[in-house]
This record gives sequence, C-alpha cells and structure tokens, in this order.
Amino acid sequence: MTPKIARFLAEARPASPCLVVDVDRVEENYRRLQRALPQARIYYAVKANPAAPILARLVGLDSAFDAASFEEISACLAAGARPEAISFGNTIKKARAIAAAHEAGVDLFAFDSLEELEKIARFAPGARVYCRIRVENKGSDWPLSRKFGAEVEVARELMWRAADLGLVPYGLSFHVGSQQRDAAAYEAAIGKVGMLFTDLTESGLELKMLNLGGGFPIPYAEDVPDIDHFAGAIMRALREHFGNAMPDLIVEPGRFIVGDAGVVQSEVVLVSRRDPESPLRWVYLDIGRFGGLAETEGEAIRYRITTPHDGGATGPVAIAGPTCDGADILYEKTPYRLPLALASGDRVELLGTGAYVSTYASQGFNGFAPLTEHYI
Ligand SMILES: *Cc1c(COP(=O)(O)O)cnc(C)c1O
Repeated sequence: MTPKIARFLAEARPASPCLVVDVDRVEENYRRLQRALPQARIYYAVKANPAAPILARLVGLDSAFDAASFEEISACLAAGARPEAISFGNTIKKARAIAAAHEAGVDLFAFDSLEELEKIARFAPGARVYCRIRVENKGSDWPLSRKFGAEVEVARELMWRAADLGLVPYGLSFHVGSQQRDAAAYEAAIGKVGMLFTDLTESGLELKMLNLGGGFPIPYAEDVPDIDHFAGAIMRALREHFGNAMPDLIVEPGRFIVGDAGVVQSEVVLVSRRDPESPLRWVYLDIGRFGGLAETEGEAIRYRITTPHDGGATGPVAIAGPTCDGADILYEKTPYRLPLALASGDRVELLGTGAYVSTYASQGFNGFAPLTEHYI
C-alpha cells in the first residue's frame, strides 16, 4: 500500500467496501515500464481499469491505448486521447462498433478469424490490421489462449487475404496470458510469431509492427521477477530473431500499470467456526466474487491481505464473500492464515487490487451496491 493510500484510509475513513487507487503510482509504473522497454510503444489495456482519472493521467504521459469495445474507445477519446493512439484490440467486435471506431478516426484493428477480417474490411475500409497468433500460455495465472488467437498457418493465409481485401496488413500480435510469471513464455512466443513475421515479409508482405501483448506480472501472495528481467529476455529474443531489422514494437500492459496502485478496503462481516473440531475459521468479507474479486475464480489470483491485528497469532481460514451464492468463496484451497483476534467489524485491506476489480463488480446482486472507487 502506498503512503498516500494509507493516509487517505486513515483520514477520510471511506465507507466499505471501496477501492482506492493512487494515480501517482500508475504514472510511476508507466515510467518504469517505459525505462525497461524503451523500444516499445505502450498501449495501456483499458479493461484493467477504465477510470477517467487513470486514462487522463496516461494521456498526459503520451500513452497509447488498447481498447476492447467502442465504449472503451469513447472513454479514451473523452480523456483526451487521439484516435491514432488507440488500437481496437479485441478480436471479437460487432460490425457497428467497428464502423463507429472507424468513424471516430481509429485506424488499427485486431483480428484472428476470416469473418472478423471481412467485417473490418467492410466497416473500416483501408484500415491497418494485425493478426493475433495463438501462443502457449504456460506460466500464466490467468490464461487467454483457449479463447483467442489464430494458428500460424491460418494467420499466414489471413494476412494475405487482408491485403486482397484492401486493408493494410500491418503486423502480428500475441498474448502470453495475464500474470505471466515466466519470461520464457515471451521468448517462445517471439520465436514462433517472429518466424511467421519474417516468412511473410520475405514473401512480399511488408509487415511493420509486432505487438507483444500484456501479461507482465505484479506481486500478489507470491513475489514475481522484476520488469527488467522480462524486458531483458524480450529484447534478447527480439535481437536474436530480427537482428537489425527490428519491427515497430507495441506492448499492451494492463495489470502491470494499475494493479499495485490500488487497494480494496473491506469490512469483516462474520468470523465463524463451522466445525468445532477444526481450527479452520470461515471469514466472510463485505466484498466477494460478485463485488469485483472475479479473479479469485479457481483461486487464480491470491491477494495479500492486511488486518489491524497483523503481528499477532494466526490460524487457518477460508475466506468468502457476503452473498447468498455458494460460488462466492474467494479462498478455500489456498492455505491462507489470518490473526486469531480478527472479528466482525474489523477493516481489512486486499492489496494489488487496482486491476481487474472495479469493473467486475455486479450491479447489485443480493442488493449489494457496486464497489465505490476513490482516485487520489
Ligand atoms: C487483457 C489484455 C491485455 C492486458 O493484459 P495484462 O495481463 O493485464 O497486461 C493486453 N492485450 C489484450 C489483447 C488483452 O485482452
């Protein structure tokens, strides 16, 4: 937690549950990535946290943006982004959204299938397009490879087809999976996608851009390697493959930019010893799976939790949300321990919740209002 967030929680005492984001930390993270990978242009993945103060700060830093819907594009434009700095990076878009983006001046579109390519050709004629390639997501805590990406041989055909359809076959992209903790995943992806890039270029299709996606991890319950470790591996793999003929590089970080800039404060609603024979306590918080903590699905993302009793004796806990849904359990298999002194009414903090939390909150399941947000 940054000192600014700690001060805000102590002084403003906001109602619980809430998300507090330190926008200065967002800027620091952006600059840190820029220093680590100066060769790449940063397209912030808006879905990680689309709040206006974050977009405005990033516009001020001359960031570009990766948007997944026309609504996200509108949010970027409203924050002052130029349409040329926006990529419509979702491979699944309604024709209407493509047309609206094109009309607004957006000129860079992702695809991974023939039908999507034909939609882009029809509703954004002449646009620059890039094909997303399916790559291995091993090492990632939140994989994306089952749903997205074309196989190399399909992509090869589609890139030629793009040219036939009057589009600009601009580049290739991949995503190694979110919260990717193994730099080797980037190296393998660069090897695979780089080979296709070179093949296409040598056979006469002049590609310009390679989009390395997002995936850069932040520390949750476990530490992760530093961003410089990932940048070093990426640049080594790129030099090995491309030598001096380096394409324009794009990265699309979401989690890395906003994740550790945010803290959720929550109130303990109940601590229950459901089996008197067992030391396990069930801790029910006023935020759960439906309050925004969707990435606890499969216990994939394991947030660090702080309490007012830290330092005291601890015992094993299962942690759940406040709703009447049996799926609203955050952690049951992961061996969490919390202080024995923890009781209802205590405030606890879930760290690293700046990304993929605020917009996942339901609109009032069981009557619980969506998380309130404070950008400071
Ligand atoms: C979600 C997403 C990102 C951001 O991924 P992170 O793991 O948060 O960095 C980048 N690009 C695309 C296409 C995405 O869908």
